[in-house]
Amino acid sequence: MSTSAVSAVREAFARMAEVDAGPTGLNCILWTDESRALVDARAVDDAAAPGALTGMPFVAKDNIATTHLQTTCGSRILEGYVSPYEATVITRLRAAGAVLVGKTNCDEFAMGSSNEYSAWGPVLNPVDRTRVPGGSSGGSAASVAAGIVRIALGSETGGSVRQPASYCGIVGVKPTYGRVSRFGLVAFASSLDQIGVFGATVHDAALALEVIAGRDPRDATSGDCPVTPYRLAATADLTGVMIGRPREYFPASLDPRVAARCDAALDQLRARGADVRDVSLPHTELAIPVYYIIAPAEASSNLARFDGVRYGLRVPSDSLGEMYEHTRTRGFGPEVTRRILLGTYVLSAGYYDAYYRKAQEVRTLIAKDFLEVFDSGVHLLFTPTTPTPAFELGAKSDPYEMYLNDIFTATANLSGVPAISVPIGEIDGLPIGGQLIGRHFEEQAMFRVAFALEAARAEAR
Ligand code: GLN
Repeated sequence: MSTSAVSAVREAFARMAEVDAGPTGLNCILWTDESRALVDARAVDDAAAPGALTGMPFVAKDNIATTHLQTTCGSRILEGYVSPYEATVITRLRAAGAVLVGKTNCDEFAMGSSNEYSAWGPVLNPVDRTRVPGGSSGGSAASVAAGIVRIALGSETGGSVRQPASYCGIVGVKPTYGRVSRFGLVAFASSLDQIGVFGATVHDAALALEVIAGRDPRDATSGDCPVTPYRLAATADLTGVMIGRPREYFPASLDPRVAARCDAALDQLRARGADVRDVSLPHTELAIPVYYIIAPAEASSNLARFDGVRYGLRVPSDSLGEMYEHTRTRGFGPEVTRRILLGTYVLSAGYYDAYYRKAQEVRTLIAKDFLEVFDSGVHLLFTPTTPTPAFELGAKSDPYEMYLNDIFTATANLSGVPAISVPIGEIDGLPIGGQLIGRHFEEQAMFRVAFALEAARAEAR
């Protein structure tokens, strides 16, 4: 056990050197500055009063702005870019005594489900290095799973915290849309994006979320709902809690081993007094097509700012137009290019009504499904986080195959509701997560049941 911030930070760097560095390392951390982290740690040790996270080293995804380390979003177009300001989430974690030890690898601009779309190479899954850690926040997930840190920041647009948490056997939270300030998060799809947290345990994740959540005057989309102490949400008795098991998340095609792990977890919740009811969210199957219209549409607009003039890469050319073109062609990787093309297409005058407007209409139906189920007396939904455990590197060369990975996670982003992935078991030695989805701004209830799932699993071992 560390006795000071300085020794905790030294341990994090020692672990990093052991598992992350070199050609055979995990490749989860992109940018670090040990001497700077030690300066911060000394300041924490010298502070008069301890904070909620005193001495806890943490890492942040490379799309969250930091003033001493680069913020490249896993992209060549931002190589060397250092932000002049710091994201609110970083400021809040630091104010609570946590120390930033690195920026983590991710799919380029958070687009992906395997971390294979990073300009800086893939991240390996610490549980099995032949497999992906999930994405897009794969570096953050792997950093926690490999024991470098206990808490990490990621971002969620369609599942990028929960899916890698499931693949790496850790806890991952997507808070309610508006729960956490996005000041300093590089925008991907603004109506979906939210910063999320990874924890080695439910307690770690709860503590980190508690510190970063709440209204921020610098983000007009942040909500003003009170933040409760999520870390104290655990109760041994779940009497009176109604859990919904949505049938669309347990299709006949679901791997029976995944379904079995989920049903065992539901039995554990019943044993603690919860009631479980079958429910239906009829528009679930439309989530992937809707997400892959809305997210690229918003991305095509957000990514217009990377033009070679203001940030990062610039490819000198004969004319301004050519400079834009060459910079963007060289700076963006194939997946980002695909999304920009797709997004520009669905927003174009002739197709706007057929695709973008239609997708927005269906999105409303998906959100209504959740509200109706919650209004019928269900407090939380329980589903698999992912249809399978982590797949092998290179296994999904078809982009559509990759997109299907988000089938159980994208719905929460489209609806804005909070969700958490908690490890519930293993399949052939590979972790698999169970997902709890709650009502808007009711993270407390979600954590209560997440603690119960974690405790039940610990007892069963
Ligand atoms: N995998 C999804 C995508 O590729 C989700 C990404 C995310 O949540 N940032 O868009």
